[in-house]
Amino acid sequence: MKWYLDFGHGGKDPGAVGPTNLKESDTALKIGMIVKENLENALEKVITTRENDKYYSLDYRTKKANSENSDYFISIHLNSATNTSAKGCEIWLYDENSILKNLANNLCNNLSDKMNTPNRGVKYSKKLSVLKNTKMPSLLIEVDFISNKEVEKSLRNDIYLKNITYTISSTLLSFVNKDFVDDKVFYRVCIGSFNNKDNAVNLKNEAISKGFKDTYIYTT
Ligand SMILES: [Zn+2]
Repeated sequence: MKWYLDFGHGGKDPGAVGPTNLKESDTALKIGMIVKENLENALEKVITTRENDKYYSLDYRTKKANSENSDYFISIHLNSATNTSAKGCEIWLYDENSILKNLANNLCNNLSDKMNTPNRGVKYSKKLSVLKNTKMPSLLIEVDFISNKEVEKSLRNDIYLKNITYTISSTLLSFVNKDFVDDKVFYRVCIGSFNNKDNAVNLKNEAISKGFKDTYIYTT
């Protein structure tokens, strides 16, 4: 599949700004770039609006996605509200007929579960430019509220961001029947299988004595 990943805002337009000045534009970029890498690890094609802190108009975004004949358009944003206790994820679709309805529900459920944040559900808007002007099915993710002090603090944490990106990526991949591919693949060398433990221990000790200090025994 060819995914168009749109990271909200950028450059002169920071989007929402958190209580300690974390910018939506920077956070959406950070999340989006990891999602891009994850999709590419699973051999998906990815086109993006931007890969740095630069401003692009809404018109530019949808035109680029349309001219690239992307299959799906995914826009990544952080939400904001004057009520600073507002918290939770939302997914926006153009209307109820969207073929991404299941994907939107899954994204909402998985983000809510994994990030332990309220599920504000799937919402509809015929006004949002990225939903209205895209030829391909599109959705917009409001990951959580950057205006919430605790959420903003979490968004500064790389492990928290990695959980978000894992959740988004694995949900997108499962929509196209693919598995998340962890880029930390370990290639292990096995030098023997025994049903007698002593034989295994002897071979382990021999390997260690020959300098293979990381040798270990595991059972299957
Ligand atoms: Zn936004």
